[in-house]
Amino acid sequence: MKILVVDDAKMARKILVKNIPEAVKEHGEVLQASNGQEGLDLYKEHKPDLMFLDLTMPIMDGFECLEKIMEFDNNANVYVVTADIQQAAQDKVKELGGKDVLQKPADPEKIKNIVLEYLKNE
Ligand SMILES: [Mg+2]
Repeated sequence: MKILVVDDAKMARKILVKNIPEAVKEHGEVLQASNGQEGLDLYKEHKPDLMFLDLTMPIMDGFECLEKIMEFDNNANVYVVTADIQQAAQDKVKELGGKDVLQKPADPEKIKNIVLEYLKNE
């Protein structure tokens, strides 16, 4: 299983990666990117099973990144993890094809459950 974590804040990426179950990290691959452009490039190269995406980032923000990923792969499983959980942002994420919006800092249980859900489908 491949998971892509995209956030410009190193600490935020670290927290997300920490909450991914060890078994997944051992037998799969966890990729990281620090802006939307890098995230998009890595997505195209690796086609991860699951992606966690920040919204506010330099170079390319999460909305644009999500939009371009969905154009590339309309079955992408993208969860947005952001401090901006205003309704407008949530609606836009859903409209673009994001699975869900999680508030930062991400709840460890939620992250774990999302990962396990996709692991089952392997
Ligand atoms: Mg950010």
